[in-house]
Amino acid sequence: MQNTLKTSVSFDGVGLHSGKPARMVLHPAPANHGIRFKRTDIALGDTMIPARWDFVERTALCTRLVNAAGVSVSTVEHIMAALAGCGVHNALIELNGPEVPIMDGSSADFLREIMAVGIERLSTPVRAFEVLKPVTVEANGAQATLLPCDRLKIDFNIDFAEEAIGQQSRTLDLRNGAFARELCDSRTFCRRVDVENMQANGLALGGVPGRNAVVFDGAVVQAGDQGLRHSDEPVRHKMLDALGDLALAGGPIFGHYIGDKSGHSLTNTLLRALFAEPGAVREVVCDAVMTARLPGQGLIWSEIPEQVRQAA
Ligand SMILES: [Zn+2]
Repeated sequence: MQNTLKTSVSFDGVGLHSGKPARMVLHPAPANHGIRFKRTDIALGDTMIPARWDFVERTALCTRLVNAAGVSVSTVEHIMAALAGCGVHNALIELNGPEVPIMDGSSADFLREIMAVGIERLSTPVRAFEVLKPVTVEANGAQATLLPCDRLKIDFNIDFAEEAIGQQSRTLDLRNGAFARELCDSRTFCRRVDVENMQANGLALGGVPGRNAVVFDGAVVQAGDQGLRHSDEPVRHKMLDALGDLALAGGPIFGHYIGDKSGHSLTNTLLRALFAEPGAVREVVCDAVMTARLPGQGLIWSEIPEQVRQAA
């Protein structure tokens, strides 16, 4: 069955790129509503923005959704990952600014507070997307693929010249509580040289190294007082992003995602290719066996890592 939240829950913070403060409130929503954003700071016109791949404006650094009226919301990937990782299929997300608060750079705060208010089970079956044949896209030496699979799996590989990142690979079956256990607390990261470039271009204005992003500078790592949360935190974060970006399919995906140096833009290109290719994907109504294999299904509080359960 589809899920929503038991009650509303709010988050206050600044946007990573805009540096602007915003309050985000997640509200319960009925079956088949899906995930939708609503800009409450804009009075006129259509302020509703569906969290769907065909509303994505492809950008390198974050995932931005824009509706036909030009109303946008940026950096949606970490809240989308948290909702998918908790098995929340329906929510109305009110936001009084242009960008989702970055919190600590991961999905940990979102996941904890969603699970703290609780998941409400609805009486309508989940509609999901089943990948039927392989689809691959490439750009600038990066590749992203979706293969048929009876659950969602994510494989990711990254390779950076920075010695503290280097080459990292990980594979994960996203069933049930896997996202909460393995990925949700891994933070956004970037290289020092990228920070300088971004800030020169008016981006990353809300970034504070070690507080809401991990910054790598050769062998030096700015990861806060506690250091890295996982020795391979960067690749785990890329997998978190991939889950959030894949959730923009408009429902859970049964498929095997393989990302090689992939990112937001390429994952969106992959979804566009999937839905454009005749016979590559079909919408399915999940039976109990299929539902039991979805991300977040059956996730319980005690399964969430201790450091995530405790508010920062
Ligand atoms: Zn991210």
